[in-house]
Amino acid sequence: MPGFEIFGDEERKHVNDVLETGVLFRYGFEGARNDHFKALEFEKKLCDITGSGYSHLCSSGTAALVTALAACGIGAGDEVIIPPFTFVATFEAVINAGAIPVFSEIDETLCLNPDRLKDVITSRTKAVVPVHMCGSMARIKEIKDVCDEKGLILLEDACQSLGATFGGKVLGTFGNAGCFSFDAVKTVTCGEGGGIITDSKDVYEKADQFSDHGHDHLGGPDRGADDHPIMGTNFRISELNAAVGLAQLNKLDQIIETQRNNKYAIKDAMADIPDVSFRYIPDAKGDSATFLSFFLPTQDRTKQVAENLAENGVGCPYWYDNNWHYYKKWNHLKQMKRSAKLAFELADNLPDYQNLELPESDNIMKRTLSMQIMLSWTKEDIENRIQSIMKSFKG
Ligand SMILES: *Cc1c(COP(=O)(O)O)cnc(C)c1O
Repeated sequence: MPGFEIFGDEERKHVNDVLETGVLFRYGFEGARNDHFKALEFEKKLCDITGSGYSHLCSSGTAALVTALAACGIGAGDEVIIPPFTFVATFEAVINAGAIPVFSEIDETLCLNPDRLKDVITSRTKAVVPVHMCGSMARIKEIKDVCDEKGLILLEDACQSLGATFGGKVLGTFGNAGCFSFDAVKTVTCGEGGGIITDSKDVYEKADQFSDHGHDHLGGPDRGADDHPIMGTNFRISELNAAVGLAQLNKLDQIIETQRNNKYAIKDAMADIPDVSFRYIPDAKGDSATFLSFFLPTQDRTKQVAENLAENGVGCPYWYDNNWHYYKKWNHLKQMKRSAKLAFELADNLPDYQNLELPESDNIMKRTLSMQIMLSWTKEDIENRIQSIMKSFKG
């Protein structure tokens, strides 16, 4: 997912545009800004790329999730279904809203299993937040069908899958809203930044207001003349961050093409390894190809291969043991470690996180390895990598 590999003159130009005006604020200062509106331009481009009616940038992907939850009307005591394989930001955002994270099983897409959602839906379920992990997609159409049937809000965490599609439709556009991250290691980076896309004018307006202290941005040049239709907070992006991201977003097609070429060269070479099977990708044509994820038959074999791969210089994350991405090691959540009492603790419908058991997800994640695909690999790098991979499966 590495936009940082390809910084160039384009990023420098957009940043210099901003620095030369001295206006790092995304709103107002029309006289001084020399017509540079980097955040606004980024938002327009994000609408073009995704086919969404509206988009709004925030200071991070996490801020985008918090904002989108608020804008979709998800708040205190609402149950929100999320997967146990994600980045911690997903459950943090739900908790931040005063809402209650409810975990549901994943399947071999490495994303929420639509067939299991009904096991955890209750009268207090308000939303489902599938996370399109590692550049590819959940069975999003089926998840949407369940949401429609049950009258639930669908908010896609597409933070890791900018540029990926299902059936030709961009991930993030299937439900009420979708979120992206543009943090330092994502496909496109702002340094820090995030984005919300939606087709709902209401969700857009609430997101725009919530992320800027409730400002409706209708007061004209005098920011003091804005009204405050709702209470909010400050999750604004700065023009400097947006400038970097704008240059990066213009390179997205090229990023995705390179990732696909690099990934499929390796995947094809691995196709004949007898004990490897690959992550199920519901629409292979829509894969953004940031990672190559594969399964081994047993946990022991997976750990052995992971060790061999690392020894041969082609280390692959083993998410099952990972602090940040899988629930097994989220001890801070399980033991409710926090700096102060949180709003969601007041709820009477809190799940028992300490004893959380997700056996189907465990069975998949125990046997999963993922290889990150880089943009800077040369043909020779890829050939060497394939040699090292082949060697790793022999031992
Ligand atoms: C990166 C990420 C986020 C959070 O984004 P930040 O910009 O780092 O705050 C949320 N969800 C997932 C799945 C992510 O990978």
